[in-house]
Amino acid sequence: MMISNSMKSQLAGNSTIRLMFAEGKEMAKKVGAENVYDFSIGNPSVPAPKAVNEAIKHIVDEEDSVYLHGYMANEGYPETRKAVADSLNRRFGTNYNENNIIMTTGAAGGLNVALKTLLNDGDEVITFKPYFLEYGQYAENYGGKLVAVGTDPETFLPDLEAFSKAINEKTKAVIINTPHNPTGVIYGEETLSGLAKILREGSMRIGRPIVLISDEPYRELCYDGKSQPWVASFYEHTIVCYSFSKSLSLPGERVGYAVVPDELCEHEDIFRCMAIATRTLGMMNAPGIMQKVIERCIDTDISDNIRAYDDNRKLLYGILKDAGFEAVYPSGAFYIWIRTPKGYTDQEFCDICKKHYVLIVPGSSFDGAGNMRAAYCVSEDMIRRSEKAWKEIAAECGI
Ligand code: PLP
Repeated sequence: MMISNSMKSQLAGNSTIRLMFAEGKEMAKKVGAENVYDFSIGNPSVPAPKAVNEAIKHIVDEEDSVYLHGYMANEGYPETRKAVADSLNRRFGTNYNENNIIMTTGAAGGLNVALKTLLNDGDEVITFKPYFLEYGQYAENYGGKLVAVGTDPETFLPDLEAFSKAINEKTKAVIINTPHNPTGVIYGEETLSGLAKILREGSMRIGRPIVLISDEPYRELCYDGKSQPWVASFYEHTIVCYSFSKSLSLPGERVGYAVVPDELCEHEDIFRCMAIATRTLGMMNAPGIMQKVIERCIDTDISDNIRAYDDNRKLLYGILKDAGFEAVYPSGAFYIWIRTPKGYTDQEFCDICKKHYVLIVPGSSFDGAGNMRAAYCVSEDMIRRSEKAWKEIAAECGI
């Protein structure tokens, strides 16, 4: 076999979510798209704001083509990075400039360049269950090992005692994700202060700083008047990885940024290494046109998009509760975490759902067995039409 051992394991565990997404398309061919209720993937259902398409047209017509399509500094256009820094400063009262911002190919690109920069063979990266499963592969990409620590079974907030115990001299970084995929939980001030305290204590104990990586592709998707506190203001050794995939509905365009604050240990070297890693991992830089779009659209009003997800959230949660399912009422992101009915494994429940053409993702895809994830970034109409199927599933499961 030609393929590497690490890719052999990735091949074996190839994303269930992607496979379900493909299965949904096959089902739609057989029974008609209107009869399939695909809640599997976190692909935004609301279009990118008009301002984005207008910016693309304007940029292509007006910008100097050589500059626009050329190679650039790996960290991105300075004027785009400044626009991002200015926007963060306005919103969070921070004091960043372009030297704190690296444009990345989404949050995935940011996480990879951060881990490439930090990890030596055998280093450990802590995260909290359930979690975006690709964190494990990202850590392995650079010889690291992901260590998953438990959360409170009701609130899904980190178990701080277990977190403290998990820290050892191999711990290099901790990844948190807020608002959270798949539970929809937001880490508020109390949680972030608690995490910061343990990170400081742990850093003291092992004699060097532990870096907190805050993965925030859902930062603006908060409901019921809640908002995401600025994570880096709680703990100095923080790298923030952001993506415009969800907020501006641009997942195929691969654009986001990483924030490398001055307070972060060795921040100049870390910044330089992350920029170099962008090139040496083969991404070179975030796409040029999209960086220019971000420069123009960084403060675009997305309240209509948030409202659409909020409406979906209430609608789907209501349907699930009426049908008798137990679920976490999400505060952010666009997922509902549903408890697998008693007496069924996730896979058995998933198969019953499929019989009714409902596609949801087993919790094991997030190291969270005993639960299922439904993504509600879908059309409101599909959620309404799915009501009957949810009731039939509940009846079949004896709920
Ligand atoms: N982190 C989390 C928690 C996600 O849910 C996703 C995508 O769904 C990513 C990272 C990757 O985001 P992007 O595709 O914008 O790079």
